[in-house]
Amino acid sequence: MKKIIYLDNASTTKVYPEVAKVMEKVMLNQYGNPSSSHDLGDEARKIINDSRIILAKEINAKAYEVIFTSGATESNNLALFGVAGSKLGKIKKNIIISSIEHSSIYESVKELEKQGFEVIEVPVDNNGLIDIDYLKNKIDNNTLIVSIIHGNNELGVLQNIEEIGSICNKHGVLFHTDCSQSFGKDKIDVRKMNISLLSASGHKIGASKGIGLLYIKEGIELEQRLFGGSQEMNRRAGTENVAGIAGFSKAIEITRKHDVKKVRIVRDYFISQLENIGGKINGSKEKRLSNIVSVTFDCDAENLMIFLSGKGIMCSTRSACDEKSKKESRVLESIGLKEKEIKGTLRFSLGFDTNKKDIDYVIREIKKFIKMNS
Ligand code: PMP
Repeated sequence: MKKIIYLDNASTTKVYPEVAKVMEKVMLNQYGNPSSSHDLGDEARKIINDSRIILAKEINAKAYEVIFTSGATESNNLALFGVAGSKLGKIKKNIIISSIEHSSIYESVKELEKQGFEVIEVPVDNNGLIDIDYLKNKIDNNTLIVSIIHGNNELGVLQNIEEIGSICNKHGVLFHTDCSQSFGKDKIDVRKMNISLLSASGHKIGASKGIGLLYIKEGIELEQRLFGGSQEMNRRAGTENVAGIAGFSKAIEITRKHDVKKVRIVRDYFISQLENIGGKINGSKEKRLSNIVSVTFDCDAENLMIFLSGKGIMCSTRSACDEKSKKESRVLESIGLKEKEIKGTLRFSLGFDTNKKDIDYVIREIKKFIKMNS
């Protein structure tokens, strides 16, 4: 079998074998409905409660402030529509986001605009960092919520969420952050960072697809989105994905033990090698996730991606959630890339097991492609 060099971990990750094992055990043995009152129901409920404690601890939240969802798309939707439909949403009508949000935030606020909310987009500079002064100028008594992504999925740029949280806190405004890419990799403390709502997803850290969480600070009212059950403290109806939840908490325990610094070293080596062969790195080099590299070449990135795929190297041209869309990347446009540059941009997202030998192979293959196409 051809060796695979998987550099698309921002799209999704391979499930850890230990996670698969835990999930199998839950599916085969602890298959009771967590809402049932018999012993098997109790066992399933205990798995959920224990997992909630582990995952809440990761962000310094209380267990009852974390609810399980189907993933970050649902968490982002619930956070925004939930707040918009709450009592507060009847009074305050402005929503502030950044220009580099994931489509699940961007499309949600487009919907909310139709319902009478005004959406303000904070621009980013060429490095992908948001204009903090712009945010300070726009936030006021009419601001319902500020939603700013932590680690951007296309560029890898990390925003200073502590500073943003402090601005929101000063104005008494709710602060939501999409931490799908940073959860488990970068330190997040919801109390210290004044975060009111936070989204994360299991399949970005070695858990299965279809499981995520939403942190909801104690006391925040959210309009219900799903009806027909009292699960998840009445915040999200539907029988819980017990195996997925068990896998999610196992995945965070494993992820935490990995050495992020080692990934950073490989990432920086990759960046220097890409630059050596004429690649232009997008986004701040200092303030970035340990594992995402966005690079622009003077070539057709779609063809390069397909060429690399043929060599066993998996990467992407953009966010997987937008891959099938015909539109150019909003995020790359936001940092000032021209159409031709956007068409020449690839995203590589490293795993904890990516090594320098893998990188050398990738660089050799990119060089071959560029030589063939120049
Ligand atoms: N936000 C960001 C930043 C993401 O990268 C993703 C996954 N592409 C999502 C939200 C959506 O997550 P999920 O696939 O769990 O719905």
